[in-house]
Amino acid sequence: MPNPLHVLVVGAGVAGMAAAGALERRGLSVDLIERRTQNPAGAGLFLPGNAVRALAELGVGDALRDGVPIRRQRLQDHQGRTLAEIDMAALWRDVGQPVGITYDRLRTALAEKLRLPIRTGVTVRTLDESEAGVAVTFSDGTSGSYDVVVGADGVHSELRRMVNPAAEARYAGQICWRFVTGNTAGIHDWTVWLGRGATFLAVPVGADRLYCYADLSMPEPAAAASAGMPLAEHFSHFGGEVRDLLAGPDAHFSTIEEVTDSTWRTRRIILIGDAAHASSPNMAQGVAMSVEDALVLAESLGGPGEIEQLLARYRLRRLPRTRWVQARARRRDSTRGMTPVVRDAVLRLAASRIYERDYGLLRDRP
Ligand SMILES: Cc1cc2nc3c(=O)[nH]c(=O)nc-3n(C[C@H](O)[C@H](O)[C@H](O)COP(=O)(O)OP(=O)(O)OC[C@H]3O[C@@H](n4cnc5c(N)ncnc54)[C@H](O)[C@@H]3O)c2cc1C
Repeated sequence: MPNPLHVLVVGAGVAGMAAAGALERRGLSVDLIERRTQNPAGAGLFLPGNAVRALAELGVGDALRDGVPIRRQRLQDHQGRTLAEIDMAALWRDVGQPVGITYDRLRTALAEKLRLPIRTGVTVRTLDESEAGVAVTFSDGTSGSYDVVVGADGVHSELRRMVNPAAEARYAGQICWRFVTGNTAGIHDWTVWLGRGATFLAVPVGADRLYCYADLSMPEPAAAASAGMPLAEHFSHFGGEVRDLLAGPDAHFSTIEEVTDSTWRTRRIILIGDAAHASSPNMAQGVAMSVEDALVLAESLGGPGEIEQLLARYRLRRLPRTRWVQARARRRDSTRGMTPVVRDAVLRLAASRIYERDYGLLRDRP
């Protein structure tokens, strides 16, 4: 038996943990490092059916029972008048039941189920790639030699700079806030309020827990300075339910960025997750694409062949699907410029068809 490939995974977010778990299950030897020593403040996640399917295939499907099954999307105008309802359970039938869950719960489930030893507080200092492998030195003074290095280090990936120094993350035109609060409003569905260039979304994520996401379109990230204004003031013209939800909790602020460069790899380094293809979150495909990346990468590296060819094959297999998600997300974002009268009419007439068009392809296996 040849020695199993020795793989370094950089970054223990969803993509890195999923990749480490999937690679180990295929019999590869994996080191997983994480720069942070403490978990970041997490908010919530909406996981469409293909994310649920991928997590089940990874072996963490049980953990999703701690989330809330989401059967419908309810689209409303900013005052809470219903524009459309989408039967998600029908679209994702035979794929996976969509779920709302806290980020912390998902991260804990991945760590516990996959039983991954994570070296925290460590990053890569130098990385030297040759015919024989990749020699790595770490920030804690240790070193190692690997067959493959997986860059799962998020939207501001340092590994991406090593793959293509010109591949920067780009501002995607929105700023956002996220928080989890009590579900005093009794919301059961994925529920959105649409204003002019402003969106407020609420998704149940646990017993009496509601994940809220608010965003504003801004042409320049510098305009985000106006975010100095309290969040609630940006949404003061929204209906009472939104104003009530915004009263109180501290929200986490960020700009939305995307990664469009598709170099993704060298001979022995491969980027996955947000490091490779971060997208505006309106398709809620970040976890789905990351876990699918992990499963496909494990399948690719678990097969026979030269490493460079295996990575090239992986990239060709993942590129069309992740590009599709980014393109759909960009198109959905572009509708923010529509006047509300036109947008509302389109949604009243065609919301289910638009959902089917945007997500139908993702029902197929990756
Ligand atoms: C506002 C917003 C809302 C979202 N909502 C959803 C949603 O509802 N549903 C959904 O599916 N997705 C959503 N996403 C996307 C989703 O969170 C991510 O796509 C997914 O978590 C995968 O991220 P990742 O693991 O690739 O990167 P990250 O989560 O960023 O993880 C990268 C990890 O690498 C570590 N790291 C970074 N640099 C180094 C280094 N040099 N050395 C070692 N470690 C390093 C970081 O500390 C971090 O732990 C949302 C994203 C945003 C921004």
